[in-house]
Amino acid sequence: MSYLLIRNGWVIDPSQSIDRIDDVWIENSRIVGVGPRPDLHADRVIDATGRIVCPGLIDMHVHLREPGREEDETIATGTASAIAGGVTSVACMPNTEPALDSQAAAEFVCLQAKRAGNANVFPVGAITKGRAGAELAEMGGLIEGGAVAFTDDGTPVVSAEIMRRALEYSKMFDKAILSHAEDLDLTRGGVMHEGNVSRRLGLRGMPAVAEDIAVFREIALAEITGGKVHILHVSTAGAVDLIRQGKRRGVRVTGEACPHHFTLTDECLSTFDSNFKMAPPLREQRDIEGILEGLQDGTLDVLSTDHAPHAPEKKQRELDQTPNGIIGLETFLPISVLRLIEPGLLTWPQMIAKMTIHPARVLGIDRGTLKPGAVADVSVIDYTTTYTIDVTKFRSKSRNCPFSGWEVRGRAAAVVLAGEVKFSSVG
Ligand SMILES: [Zn+2]
Ligand SMILES: [Zn+2]
Repeated sequence: MSYLLIRNGWVIDPSQSIDRIDDVWIENSRIVGVGPRPDLHADRVIDATGRIVCPGLIDMHVHLREPGREEDETIATGTASAIAGGVTSVACMPNTEPALDSQAAAEFVCLQAKRAGNANVFPVGAITKGRAGAELAEMGGLIEGGAVAFTDDGTPVVSAEIMRRALEYSKMFDKAILSHAEDLDLTRGGVMHEGNVSRRLGLRGMPAVAEDIAVFREIALAEITGGKVHILHVSTAGAVDLIRQGKRRGVRVTGEACPHHFTLTDECLSTFDSNFKMAPPLREQRDIEGILEGLQDGTLDVLSTDHAPHAPEKKQRELDQTPNGIIGLETFLPISVLRLIEPGLLTWPQMIAKMTIHPARVLGIDRGTLKPGAVADVSVIDYTTTYTIDVTKFRSKSRNCPFSGWEVRGRAAAVVLAGEVKFSSVG
């Protein structure tokens, strides 16, 4: 038997409403509990004085690119990036090549993750075969292979009929459908948000209603089927409002926001820098305010990154030729601190909940808690030291990040994965 003591930290575990200075004891791979244990002898001590100690962070929206696009990221580099960002579990999206639409494909991801030995990887299976939108994938087999939810992310499910059946079918397994909500007819050819800025720059826009219409459809279908729908990367004030109304009616809908969507606006595209190009696109100040309100009142349950690595040569093309998305795992914490904690919009326990127990509940995974007996995934966070984001030091294989050079606070000081110290700068 081996004991690890994380001593004297500010322990925040929203799953148990813990918010106090205390010790966390770990025995082998499991949590013993929060609180002093004079009867136990620690084999290793991490001094967490002046640091936050919380359940290992979960990022439920990550693109790991393997198999098929290893020039952008691999399961090994993506999970190393996660650990560097204080994230111990990721859910990976199925838009790989081939798509993650079979039991064997899910098993491959789990095996590669195990080999890499970094963060936990929970595969998300495709809703439709080949993500082609025509025929439901084998959900039962995918779950057998380790899939924890379903999505065609990267693209929406165009057919409302297919989405309806996906919600009916996933309900039988009590799994969530994760929706990339976009009306493709309205966004075709668009490179940024449609508004004053797109008109000024002469760039083709993607209107906010393209998202709102799709979110409305998903909530209406969840309502008639009783299925669980989770709206990925909410970027419009209108979508936040629709989720809020859906929740009030008792629809099983949850929502997530990504740091870039509540930090940056479409004005950033004035530089024509492709690191500001993503889908859904950066919107307007009023959308940011809607998202922040949704995070504050609980309409948006989850914070995630939509970590979307692209090799440098792909992001250096003209704006209309370059792929959508930015990496996010290594800026998840500091940008969230900058936008949510520092202005006093969320308390630390509120923010940590959206990065731990809430995504764990959406996915139905046994993570995101420091309850006795839980798997000992723990993040220790330095929340006071100011530092400069340096994209050249990232563990991700890609460099498409718009936050390089930003002065921030909030970084992982230590990460424990199933009782094993992956790294520690504090003993
Ligand atoms: Zn998406
Ligand atoms: Zn995505």
